[in-house]
Amino acid sequence: MTTADSIEQAIAELLPHFGERLSRSQSVCEHHGHGEGYHAQHAPQAVIFAETTEDVAHALRVCNAHRAPVIPFGAGTSLEGQVNAIEGGISIDLSRMTGLLELNTGDMDCRVQAGITRQDLNLLLRDEGLFFPVDPGGEATIGGMCATRASGTGAVRYGTIRENVLGLTVVLADGRIMRVGRRVRKSAMGYDLTHLMIGSEGTLGIITEVQLRLHGIPETMAAAVCQFETLADCVETAVQVMQMSVPIGRMELLDDVQMDACIRYAKLDGYRPIPTMFFEFEGGPEAVREQIATVEAIADDNNGSAFTWSTQAQERAALWKTRHAVFWACLAYRPGYTGISTDAIVPISALTEMILGAKHDIEESGITAPIVGHIGDGNFHTVMLVPPGEAEVEKARALDHKIIARALSLGGSASGEHGVGLAKIGFMPAEHDAVALDVMRTIKRALDPNNILNPGKLLPPPAPPC
Ligand SMILES: Cc1cc2nc3c(=O)[nH]c(=O)nc-3n(C[C@H](O)[C@H](O)[C@H](O)COP(=O)(O)OP(=O)(O)OC[C@H]3O[C@@H](n4cnc5c(N)ncnc54)[C@H](O)[C@@H]3O)c2cc1C
Repeated sequence: MTTADSIEQAIAELLPHFGERLSRSQSVCEHHGHGEGYHAQHAPQAVIFAETTEDVAHALRVCNAHRAPVIPFGAGTSLEGQVNAIEGGISIDLSRMTGLLELNTGDMDCRVQAGITRQDLNLLLRDEGLFFPVDPGGEATIGGMCATRASGTGAVRYGTIRENVLGLTVVLADGRIMRVGRRVRKSAMGYDLTHLMIGSEGTLGIITEVQLRLHGIPETMAAAVCQFETLADCVETAVQVMQMSVPIGRMELLDDVQMDACIRYAKLDGYRPIPTMFFEFEGGPEAVREQIATVEAIADDNNGSAFTWSTQAQERAALWKTRHAVFWACLAYRPGYTGISTDAIVPISALTEMILGAKHDIEESGITAPIVGHIGDGNFHTVMLVPPGEAEVEKARALDHKIIARALSLGGSASGEHGVGLAKIGFMPAEHDAVALDVMRTIKRALDPNNILNPGKLLPPPAPPC
């Protein structure tokens, strides 16, 4: 059992090493006690700003000896209560670890420190003709993205962070430094510890370096928009694009309410607040033209209107900036309200039933909840906008649970990308059988026997014996 004393003892022992890089300021601790989700803040007792793998190893050796909880912190953009220090402890902030340590342009890979953001990495890569494609909406760090198994609008073509990580440097709970993975596209050598760490949400180790796959910036890129009178036609278009294996770059659905919020927030002229699809096409000029023609024909068949496309970089950038700003557009739609995001995912063939069902659930609940989706993956979010008050949050939770239950009944998952944190722990037994949960707990105990790494997250406590 952690005591306040053991945390204080760890802090006293860490102070000589970290000096000013160990902060006990109330505002710094509070900032590290929450992410971008709606969960109540739990501030750690101290925050350490790490700069090297050895810093992290030293901190973990000390915290493990004192049984003091440690919460890794990237940019704090996670949405499910992942960084909240619910048992107190010490937050290890990696946002100063921003180095590009190695760039192999010929092999199209690189090694970065875990605190670099994807935006900063792409600025460093731009002149090499390369880019890193995983693009969650927040300004997340690469380490945080690995820890939450993040993805974004580019996943339909390039996969999630899981498909784009080749190897990791991880500091284990006892301070040992583990290097896993090689600079190769595949390897059949033993247990895949790299991918065990992907999605572990800071509960198995702290990632300090990441070996990433990179991609060439495509020769031609075009963006297109198409609007639909009905949500069913809009979703059906997406399903058919996927079923026809069009190598789409990105494909995002915005329902009528989300479009209304975006039109107001981004001052989008010339669009109506009706279900809308944003597309991006990539490749050689001929291939792009072919993809556009195929998708336009599919949209036509499904009563799409106003199919417009452009290869102009500025127009493309404006469109995708609008898409990445949907969360803020939602918050501006109902000032003073909190946005609680759902993150269900289903197999493509179940998408129409799922999204129309979710829309029905939303209307029945009376909650304003725009729908926006990484529709090509079967993943979509509803941003439930709730006024202050626990009763309203409860109503939103009930809607979230209804949508998740629907997704699970269609063979889907409670979270396509935001992760478990605190919010989705209750759904772990619905998605994983008792044996799988037992194996997960065994792994956790083996790697972190003192349960210091982000305790209380991801894994539900075992059911009491009958
Ligand atoms: C507006 C908005 C849009 C978003 N859109 C998307 C989206 O499209 N797709 C998506 O996947 N997510 C999205 N998110 C959620 C969020 O951006 C991701 O979960 C992101 O991967 C979190 O990264 P972070 O650096 O902020 O991590 P943090 O929030 O700091 O941490 C997240 C978790 O990872 C752990 N952690 C952090 N760094 C490390 C490390 N180096 N080693 C081990 N554990 C670590 C933490 O302990 C915590 O459990 C969005 C969030 C916002 C606010």
